[in-house]
Amino acid sequence: MSVDRPRPLVAGNWKMNGLRASARVLEEIHAGYTPGLRAKVELAVCPPATLIGHAAQLSVGSRVAIGGQDCHAKESGAFTGDLSAEMLADAGATYVIVGHSERRQYHKEKDQDVCAKAVAAHRAGLTAIVCVGETREEREAGKALAVVKKQLRGSVPVDSNSHNLVVAYEPVWAIGTGLTPTAADVAEVHAAIREELKRLVGKADAPKVRILYGGSVKPTNAAELMAVENVNGALVGGASLVAADFLGIAGAYLG
Ligand code: PEP
Repeated sequence: MSVDRPRPLVAGNWKMNGLRASARVLEEIHAGYTPGLRAKVELAVCPPATLIGHAAQLSVGSRVAIGGQDCHAKESGAFTGDLSAEMLADAGATYVIVGHSERRQYHKEKDQDVCAKAVAAHRAGLTAIVCVGETREEREAGKALAVVKKQLRGSVPVDSNSHNLVVAYEPVWAIGTGLTPTAADVAEVHAAIREELKRLVGKADAPKVRILYGGSVKPTNAAELMAVENVNGALVGGASLVAADFLGIAGAYLG
């Protein structure tokens, strides 16, 4: 492993799933996060906002980080139903996902909105997991690299560095579909992201930024995907709702 290679991160995105009883899943994850696994990979769970405080309390001492799934750009104000990055941090989160394709699609978030949210995350001391990824039409038109690079340039704030930024490459067509790109396609996009990061965070810091792959990661395909050059972990949706599957994915790093 090269000295510059960052510690991998496997982050679970529970989306709009989970009630208080789901604390059981988190407890199972804690139990399976053995010292051997801890030595190889960092784990984070991003539950719905209603569970962040409870999840953070449960996770004290477990070293499983807790994250939000979105935040507002402003610190406070008349934004009914929204949550600020400061509120997430106050509840115990250390990460927040911004620019997930479901936010871009259903809430019409543009790159500049995502960038403002990432700025807010940094202001609150959170690490922003900035999501990018092409649609099926864009991939079929040969535009995947151009789309991802444009999203990155528009969504990553200038104050980003390898501590406060994680990039997640999530092809939209792979999310929740059971489809995944080939290892060669993942390698090509992650290499392009790494190149772009040199311009965004500087040549020295770019190799240390974690670039996650997300989209239908399962215990059965994790080892192949996590072995791809420039893949420094996974953003996991559906499979993160089952502790054994989430841990099985992280277990890809046990070799
Ligand atoms: C996601 O929504 O970030 C995701 C990767 O979902 P899934 O793993 O279910 O494809």
